[in-house]
Amino acid sequence: KRKRGQDDVEKLRKAVDKLDIKSPDIKSFTDLPLCSATSTGLRASHFETLTDVQKVAIPLALKGKDILGAAKTGSGKTLAFLVPVLEALYRAQWTELDGLGALIISPTRELAVQIFEVLRKIGRKHTFSAGLVIGGKSLREEAERLGRMNILVCTPGRMLQHLDQTAGFDVDNLQILVLDEADRIMDLGFQSAVDALVDHLPKDRQTLLFSATQSKRVSDLARLSLKDPEYVSVHEEA
Ligand code: ADP
Ligand code: MG
Repeated sequence: KRKRGQDDVEKLRKAVDKLDIKSPDIKSFTDLPLCSATSTGLRASHFETLTDVQKVAIPLALKGKDILGAAKTGSGKTLAFLVPVLEALYRAQWTELDGLGALIISPTRELAVQIFEVLRKIGRKHTFSAGLVIGGKSLREEAERLGRMNILVCTPGRMLQHLDQTAGFDVDNLQILVLDEADRIMDLGFQSAVDALVDHLPKDRQTLLFSATQSKRVSDLARLSLKDPEYVSVHEEA
């Protein structure tokens, strides 16, 4: 059984290598090299056709690129990062024992909860553990669960608190960092928290940064966290 899983992963890696990011034929999730758990989760959640930002961002992110993405509210940015997150960990054959593989930073608790709900829906066939770190519970109560999580959705202040204070919380294996609503992260004054947070993370990782608007402040944040990013900007059609 293990052997078959290995073959699947190998096949998927090859398919991602061969994927032509410029192909006009990429219209649906089924046109992408995704594992069957993700495909099933998407289908069961009734996601079929890719939105514009997903068409551009997902193929690049599957190939491991860093992304600086700007697209208006409602354009589908959540799946543009959640699908690559699930795929990166699947292809790395991530298990419970590997610890934190993906960290998703959101400006507010409400948005973090929304992201987490989408993750639960499309990730239902995956075996990764996932949690929210948004405060509201005691630091210790949260801390006890942290070490067992593969994917965390967090707000900046609370996450930084854990990185500074929770003994034994190890983020050295982190594969992928997502900064969602980077413009709001900056507007809400989280710049220094995010800077400090990123300082704790391994440099050798993939980073996806999304915002609704492009601004000087977003590019300042991007400069600190992204490596040679691909710019994905989707405008409304005239
Ligand atoms: P953004 O983060 O860019 O504001 P969301 O990711 O919250 O946008 O998505 C906005 C809405 O569009 C949500 O209701 C979501 O379920 C829906 N949506 C996202 N991607 C797709 C898709 N590929 N097909 C159909 N609906 C989608
Ligand atoms: Mg969003």
